[in-house]
Amino acid sequence: MTLSVVTQPERKLWLLFRGHELLVAVDDFRFPQHEHYAALGLIADEHHAVGQLHGLDAHVVRLAEDTIAPEGYHFQSLRSLLMIIDADSFSLAATASQVLEWYKSHRFCSRCGTPTEAHPRGERARVCPSCTYHQYPRIHPCVIVAITKNDTILLARAQRFTRPMYSLLAGFVEVGETLEHAVMREVAEESGLQVKNLRYFGSQSWPFPNNLMLAFQAEWASGEIVIQEEEIMDAQFFRFDNLPEIPPSGSIASQVIHATVTELAAKYR
Ligand SMILES: [Zn+2]
Repeated sequence: MTLSVVTQPERKLWLLFRGHELLVAVDDFRFPQHEHYAALGLIADEHHAVGQLHGLDAHVVRLAEDTIAPEGYHFQSLRSLLMIIDADSFSLAATASQVLEWYKSHRFCSRCGTPTEAHPRGERARVCPSCTYHQYPRIHPCVIVAITKNDTILLARAQRFTRPMYSLLAGFVEVGETLEHAVMREVAEESGLQVKNLRYFGSQSWPFPNNLMLAFQAEWASGEIVIQEEEIMDAQFFRFDNLPEIPPSGSIASQVIHATVTELAAKYR
């Protein structure tokens, strides 16, 4: 009996963006797997390697704004996929989105204006052939904090929310600040409160457009709520078993709210 070996074309995973939307299968939201994205009848100028998922090499592609989804696929916003796809898939899509955005905005050297080139040893950097300046992708750290006061948690409705949803106080870390200082400053600015016993909870890459969310828990120390009206519509301490609408699952905001509420329930129920 002879054993014949058939060589399969090498499959890759394709993260195909049309603006902020990603091409996923209609039935199970998977990213397309093909030897080349052209197999889907799609055309693009460039693609970039972004890592691996389930043993397959993944590449990101920017499609033209007027691209029509091929049979069996549709375009879905990255934000909406957060609630649908698993954490590893979302992490890859988040990386892909940020890599694509970085390529788009670093085509020229920010020091001397010369068109940049790929890094000679394949690092994720754009290199200036004139002045040798290296431009790496940048992430912007943001802090988000769950503040408790006895059996309640502080939740705020931001002016930018389109739905009647309440979330946690959050903001960007400023130049020269520690994370702890950023939390204290944001809380004081947005709510007028002082907090204590700050604890790190966890982090999440937040590709809208290139943030790193660092979540904390803290306890109310002093002060009455005075909201910063340009940013916050309402802020209240809600009892753990009587919460308003909160952010969708999948976000670090949702995770830290649930963890904090579970702690309060164990203590006060
Ligand atoms: Zn330069």
